[in-house]
Amino acid sequence: MAYQTVNPYTNEVVKEYSDATNQQLEDALQKGHELYQKFKVQDIKERAELLHQVAAKIRERSDELARTATIEMGKLLAEAEGEVELCAIIAEWYADNGAEMLMPEKIETGANGIAEVHYQSTGVIMMVEPWNFPYYQIMRVFAPNFLVGNPMILKHASNTPSSAQLMADVILEAGTPEGSLKNLFLNYDQVADAIADPRVQGAALTGSERGGKSIATTAGEHLKQTTLELGGMDPFIVLSDANMDHVADIAWRSRIYNAGQECTSSKRFIVMEDVYDEFIQRLKDNFNKLKPGDPLDPETTLAPMNTKEAKEELQEQVDEAVAAGAQVAYGNESYDLEGQFFMPTILTDINRDNPAHTTELFGPVAVVYKVTSEEEAIELANDSPYGLGGIVFAGDADHGAEVAAKIETGMVFVNNIRYSLPELPFGGVKRSGYGREMSRTGLMAFVNEKLIIKA
Ligand code: NAP
Repeated sequence: MAYQTVNPYTNEVVKEYSDATNQQLEDALQKGHELYQKFKVQDIKERAELLHQVAAKIRERSDELARTATIEMGKLLAEAEGEVELCAIIAEWYADNGAEMLMPEKIETGANGIAEVHYQSTGVIMMVEPWNFPYYQIMRVFAPNFLVGNPMILKHASNTPSSAQLMADVILEAGTPEGSLKNLFLNYDQVADAIADPRVQGAALTGSERGGKSIATTAGEHLKQTTLELGGMDPFIVLSDANMDHVADIAWRSRIYNAGQECTSSKRFIVMEDVYDEFIQRLKDNFNKLKPGDPLDPETTLAPMNTKEAKEELQEQVDEAVAAGAQVAYGNESYDLEGQFFMPTILTDINRDNPAHTTELFGPVAVVYKVTSEEEAIELANDSPYGLGGIVFAGDADHGAEVAAKIETGMVFVNNIRYSLPELPFGGVKRSGYGREMSRTGLMAFVNEKLIIKA
């Protein structure tokens, strides 16, 4: 059985799930297609009201949701609680604002007549999601598409089946029609079959480049639209005049949140030489305070990684980086603990031919570069195959924003940690993918912008 819940703190196999059958997939496709026909003639306000109920149900079941994610993929309970609340906020935001955004828009055409663009649903969407934010990733696609009237089939990560099923159950219990979001334990071939099916009109994937390439290839073959939210190696630039107390407070959190397993974690710290030593010292001090332990225990500040394989892969990457000349400024030791803990690690002296310069390290490892000018910082930040997010710390926020404008990524935060809100577009450029989730752009990802013009 490919789908399993294994607690990464205890290594206990908590639950196993049977793979989906082809008949289950066929039933979901048919149900989704029939629902799409109903959604087309339904008043959008009814779905907006249902999204409010989804938010309410998420809050009602928030303890269970949070504990399930923590047990299944190891994140700290407080972080899981924050993720669950964010899901409710996303559902509410689309409930309150989405219908207005989907109203027909008039276009002046002079003597040619009255033109209107109508925003219409397109059909069933195949959703493929990762384990690192097992609920938030679902909600980013579900809330806007449900409002639009696109039913969804969900293939979640094989190591977070309990979270996937629980969120699907909560959404159903909130009163949404069956088939609005159908979670199935699909294999890759079945996902490809679903994308190829004429009842499916698009695919949204959040995950690795490997996964993204595969989904986009299949979708391309069948001329289906996709959005891809992929990996990142986000830069964190520290200019000489930055407030170092603020920098120190944000830097460790920006790397360690979710055990460092976040696409928009700060992964490359690019620091001006005059504040470099202080930066390294303060990052070490903060890493040194972290307490690994049971992620359900509020005293724990360092969570285990999500699986044994993920921890082993990260160790291999660190070993390769060191073999290629990286210096270990902190960490890279083993904890004497059962769970999949990786000691926060700081790597320095990364040459541009070091694999760590171009490969995403998906765990609590900070790569720190020393630079001598702002131009060098920007050039280094842009010397990456990825282009997801980033952070700039500057004494003057306006100047920080000027630097941010020169960074080749989809999102840059100035003098603050990154965060996600439903009104803000989320996504990247280069190998971090294309398209945006959340905001008005996420709402429009799979709509038919239909022109109607009358003489
Ligand atoms: P992954 O291996 O691509 O898995 C993500 C999802 O895609 C899982 O459900 C996985 O299923 C599925 N999948 C992978 N290959 C597939 C294929 N050929 N056909 C159908 N489904 C396929 O990604 P990951 O390594 O677990 O996740 C971490 C990556 O996601 C990192 O690179 C991270 O930066 C990125 N990420 C990006 C964002 C963003 O918004 N940009 C957010 C979070 C994470 P299985 O589990 O069954 O393999």
